[in-house]
Amino acid sequence: MPKALYPGSFDPITYGHIDVLVRAKKLFRPLIVAVVENPRKTPLFSVEERKRLVEEALREVGIGDVGVITYSGLLIECAKSLGVDVIVRGLRATSDFDYEFQLALTNRDLDSDVETVFLMTAGKYSFLSSSIVKEVARYGGDVSKFVPKCVERALKDKYHSKYHS
Ligand code: ADP
Repeated sequence: MPKALYPGSFDPITYGHIDVLVRAKKLFRPLIVAVVENPRKTPLFSVEERKRLVEEALREVGIGDVGVITYSGLLIECAKSLGVDVIVRGLRATSDFDYEFQLALTNRDLDSDVETVFLMTAGKYSFLSSSIVKEVARYGGDVSKFVPKCVERALKDKYHSKYHS
């Protein structure tokens, strides 16, 4: 089976990410989740916290046999250093398309041996994003349908300590 990398911010991981991951697991082995330390974004969770939440979430939903790493710098360099054949990205509605198209073609230009494969999420998660989850959690809304319990707890702790310290 081809070896694949599933990169992203995962700030935090949601059931949308997990849905894509389950689909990717059927097609690629090994599958490695790469949590990016992106200096362009100001994440809610540190890269180590995000990695830990991915690991805990996968344990909680019973998905094994997936590597989780962190990386900074160019995605294609990370892919090359791991010797992966494929970069997996998830697609939601058309809003993802422009950015994903640009990213995939740039990566192909940098290394034509690594293919980007897009997987579509289940319809029920097609509106779901980490940003929306954070927005709901910030105001105390119920995010249990969107994220595993460990992530829900981490969001509560984060927003509690942010606003009550
Ligand atoms: P990035 O900052 O790299 O876009 P994200 O964590 O937001 O990182 O997303 C990582 C990947 O997962 C992207 O390809 C994104 O389109 C995909 N993704 C995020 N949420 C969903 C979802 N609800 N359904 C399908 N794919 C998703």
